[in-house]
Amino acid sequence: MTEKTLIVLLDSGDTIIDEGTEIRDDHDVVLSGDTLPGAADMVKSLASAGYRVALVADGRFASFENLLSQHGILDLFETMICSEQIRASKPSPRMFKAALGALDLSPEDAWRCVMVGNNLSRDILGANQLGITSIHLAWTERYPRTPSRLEETPDHTIMLPEQLLPLLEELNRNLEYGTSRITGDSVSALSDAVSEPVQ
Ligand SMILES: [Mg+2]
Repeated sequence: MTEKTLIVLLDSGDTIIDEGTEIRDDHDVVLSGDTLPGAADMVKSLASAGYRVALVADGRFASFENLLSQHGILDLFETMICSEQIRASKPSPRMFKAALGALDLSPEDAWRCVMVGNNLSRDILGANQLGITSIHLAWTERYPRTPSRLEETPDHTIMLPEQLLPLLEELNRNLEYGTSRITGDSVSALSDAVSEPVQ
């Protein structure tokens, strides 16, 4: 499977896991929870399509280990960035920069990334602030579905997990087409010319 150019950052609560079903212990660790319908398959489909997938989620690391392993998708995440470790919550740029860093990317690679989340004031605002393409998964009614300010406006909105892969395939096609136009022969010819010693 060829690796895709587009890289996917995913939220957990009400993006993969239905927050209404979460069972927590006394230390605010989520022990178990159901997925949104189709969300486990969504993550599996991303991985098998060749997308690198990272978790960017607010909460305790143990919660996400519990939840994602319960649904057999823990190992599909290349990295897991949680607010417990970073000591900051979305929309803090530190969460997103930590994810880029853990993926061996720099902030200049934000254009290659999408952030998928249910929360406009956290997931979408945070992504927009860094130039990461924002995708609002508006499945839940627990959180606002309309932006309270311009900066929270998502680039794309989907209602169901199963709608994510087709959207990403389209975005990735556009990205790879655009990249091939920029990094085609003309650029490699240019870099060859630059690296040649001056006579
Ligand atoms: Mg969430």
